[in-house]
Amino acid sequence: MSIANEIISVKKTLEPFHAKLIAVSKTKPAELIKEAYESGHKIFGENKVQELREKQPILPQDIEWHMIGHLQTNKVKFIAPYISLIHSVDSKKLIHEINKQGIKNKRTIPFLLQVHIAKEDSKFGIPYTEAISFVEDYLTEKLTNIELVGLMGMATNTEDKEIIKKEFDSLKELFDDIKDQLNLPNFTEISMGMSKDYNIALESGSTMIRVGSSIFGKR
Ligand SMILES: *Cc1c(COP(=O)(O)O)cnc(C)c1O
Repeated sequence: MSIANEIISVKKTLEPFHAKLIAVSKTKPAELIKEAYESGHKIFGENKVQELREKQPILPQDIEWHMIGHLQTNKVKFIAPYISLIHSVDSKKLIHEINKQGIKNKRTIPFLLQVHIAKEDSKFGIPYTEAISFVEDYLTEKLTNIELVGLMGMATNTEDKEIIKKEFDSLKELFDDIKDQLNLPNFTEISMGMSKDYNIALESGSTMIRVGSSIFGKR
């Protein structure tokens, strides 16, 4: 199937859930992104600042770029002028740097807190049990140019659908707790689900799925 047809097919699945598709274009050349764009899709996800720096200037300026990979503080400045959403925030230091670059660029940069929900060890994502106090701390700082709009998580890479479902359900539960307990007016997004597991994520309440290989082919 063509890229355009793959996108149409994923979007059909999404429709009843009112979720958004982030087309993950990492490692793929600008021509393929252009092809997807010309089929009418405008939201793309990348996981490396260097790739964004190469692609963003040469592609249509109304593309909504999402940063989905680990972000180093010293690289925030390169994407701060245009990035639509940063999915992968997991430290205070990063939050402060994004706020600082938001001020420099006279804009408010939306972000998601990445929470570690998988069984696998990972350097990324804050521990599940620390998420609420992390958000409380963030709120007390009243930062002016950054805004928390939701959570992001990645499930264990397993064929066991029950494990995956449990992990996605746990992220949804945490999202509901934070929304109920804390004052976050624009806290609306749950970014979960990739090519292999987005159907499960949608059942658990995902609002944004990040799909790469199903659309663009193997990397
Ligand atoms: C690569 C990547 C995806 C997309 O993965 P696919 O399996 O290709 O759909 C989603 N989220 C993150 C954080 C990624 O790095």
